[in-house]
Amino acid sequence: MTYKKARLTRLNEAPTNAAGRYVLYWCQMFRRLSRNHALDYAVAVANELKKPLVVYEGLRLDYPWASRRLHTFVLEGMRENARRAKELGLTYWPFVETPSAPARGLVRLLARDAAVVVTDDFPCFVVPGQSAALAAKVEVPVFAVDGNCVVPLANLGPSVSAAAHLRPRIHKAFVEAWGHRAEVTPRLGRDARVRVDPPFAVWEPPADLPHFVASLPLDPLPAVQDTPGGESAARQRLSDFLARRLRGYAESRSQPASLEEGFASGLSPYLHFGHLSIEEVVERALDVPGPWTPAEIDVKQRGRREGFFCRDANVNAFLDEALTWRDVGFLWHSKRREDTGHLATALPFWALETLKKHAADPRAYVYSREEWEAGETHDELWNAAQKELVATGRLHNYLRMLWGKKVLEFSASPEEAYQTLVHLNNKYALDGRNPNSYTGILWTFGLFDRPWPPERNVLGSIRYMSSGNTAKKFRLGPYLDYVKRLPSIASVRAGGAASKE
Ligand SMILES: Cc1cc2nc3c(=O)[nH]c(=O)nc-3n(C[C@H](O)[C@H](O)[C@H](O)COP(=O)(O)OP(=O)(O)OC[C@H]3O[C@@H](n4cnc5c(N)ncnc54)[C@H](O)[C@@H]3O)c2cc1C
Repeated sequence: MTYKKARLTRLNEAPTNAAGRYVLYWCQMFRRLSRNHALDYAVAVANELKKPLVVYEGLRLDYPWASRRLHTFVLEGMRENARRAKELGLTYWPFVETPSAPARGLVRLLARDAAVVVTDDFPCFVVPGQSAALAAKVEVPVFAVDGNCVVPLANLGPSVSAAAHLRPRIHKAFVEAWGHRAEVTPRLGRDARVRVDPPFAVWEPPADLPHFVASLPLDPLPAVQDTPGGESAARQRLSDFLARRLRGYAESRSQPASLEEGFASGLSPYLHFGHLSIEEVVERALDVPGPWTPAEIDVKQRGRREGFFCRDANVNAFLDEALTWRDVGFLWHSKRREDTGHLATALPFWALETLKKHAADPRAYVYSREEWEAGETHDELWNAAQKELVATGRLHNYLRMLWGKKVLEFSASPEEAYQTLVHLNNKYALDGRNPNSYTGILWTFGLFDRPWPPERNVLGSIRYMSSGNTAKKFRLGPYLDYVKRLPSIASVRAGGAASKE
């Protein structure tokens, strides 16, 4: 428990409520019942206090960018959690808000009867604000547990200005963290298993989930057919990636392609909603060349992208994204929480200065948010990327960079471009509303990067990317053909044809 304290933040000073009927785990972002540090902590507290454990997982109607797409993914996960909780003998209270059953005040009501509340320490979106609001209003202790990354964020030091600065810190802290991974199955003591009746009607997963979702007042953006939510679907995607696509990862992951034809894992939605633990992903990837132990680590390669974890180039390349790059965003957010609303508070000085200097430069095209959203620009590749995003909830990583750069180049101002990108990314991408949504977008404006001469129109010394160069660098024909077969942006936005990746 001592090492794991690095994951723990106490959000208020209230004393334990000895009369509390249970220990409450309010599951907000790590939406799974295995390999979950926050759940493990709640279990440990329940065992120690000899109280029942209650897991509460809720879904409101009013989160930003709420849609049928996001709701379906989360509910598929909740349906599975309900099943799994029964197998584990765990008291699980799912709640799904409907117009006749509002969510307002429910967590506070549940907290009132708790001895201690434990929740997820996710450093972005509505989560930090919701947790702080609860902690301020209740008279029981509220703890937030960081289960975001393999190495606890508190052990990674201050935020960095480039991924290269974080890599050696992760490498240094990795082995110790590896020895303190979350439990595969929560270790519930006898008291923790005692059932408690909920003070509200728990959600019963309906036989016809799409019909239920369609009955809710949500944006009609449809679910992504080929990316169902939940732990089993997440594991299926992980197995599929490791068996078929990992082998081309180091060489070819940047080649724009559908998930089926390319080499990326497609795991980000599952990592985002916590249906899959990053520890499980890393464990399974390390075992691909053969059962892995920390003895395989080559400390001479510490801080290098290649050769550190093992000899397999694909495994190292994949872990560099899943650990170094992913952690860069989480660390950055954990130091600033919700302060990502505007470029002025998010970008390094040099990037702000160069954008300011070029703010009045004439633009070859200026598109409105509606034109961007509808994929109606002069740039065929940009429109294709936008169509992929809208239809599949996914956007290939290399194209995602280009996609961001073009919005900066052809918007009325950098701030407008930033707001457009946050909106498009967070509305359509299944993995949106994540620390890496904001840092990914901000990278296109210079965050974690450096000035790239020569100075250009509009972008100044921000790194430039062009669709023409992308077309020279990659074989785009198969990608464009795949996107052509996807349903149109207009039909998907209207809630029409189901999408296929
Ligand atoms: C403009 C822009 C917006 C982005 N928005 C998001 C977002 O909303 N959510 C999100 O998770 N990522 C975002 N990224 C980062 C990256 O594009 C995605 O993580 C990646 O494409 C997800 O696909 P995958 O799971 O197949 O990745 P893989 O290549 O299989 O990588 C495995 C995992 O590593 C992490 N990862 C990979 N590349 C990056 C990266 N460049 N930065 C940070 N983590 C990375 C992700 O967790 C990913 O699931 C954005 C990048 C840009 C340039």
